[in-house]
Amino acid sequence: MSTCELRAHHALCVRFFQGKGYSEAFVNNMTALIGALRGTDPLLTLRGAPDPLCGSCPHNRDGVCDSSDKVARYDAAVLRLLSLPDGASLRWSELSARVWERVLAPGKLNEVCGDCQWYPICSRAAVE
Ligand code: SF4
Repeated sequence: MSTCELRAHHALCVRFFQGKGYSEAFVNNMTALIGALRGTDPLLTLRGAPDPLCGSCPHNRDGVCDSSDKVARYDAAVLRLLSLPDGASLRWSELSARVWERVLAPGKLNEVCGDCQWYPICSRAAVE
């Protein structure tokens, strides 16, 4: 993987993924993405829009996310906290460090996605 589009709030989700998820296809897709991020440190383009991970999400109904308002809010909050524009390009290692410094270390995960169904799991992992 040399370059990849990443939905902005997925920069948080991939960090906390524990092999649980909506479906086998989604879990497999997420596992492959995480392996590529850690293995090749690709250049990413952050988007407030669907990315390849969304392709295997059961919330994706014929190309339209049935939670689009909520996840768009997550994307906007992440980009705001990271001080990055929609379309920003940076390496996974830079993004990961920035997520830690600007979202997780200051305890701001709740500001991004406190109403996500997975928040209890992710927030616990964020302080471990
Ligand atoms: S709580 Fe939801 S949106 Fe936030 S990092 Fe976890 S899975 Fe992603």
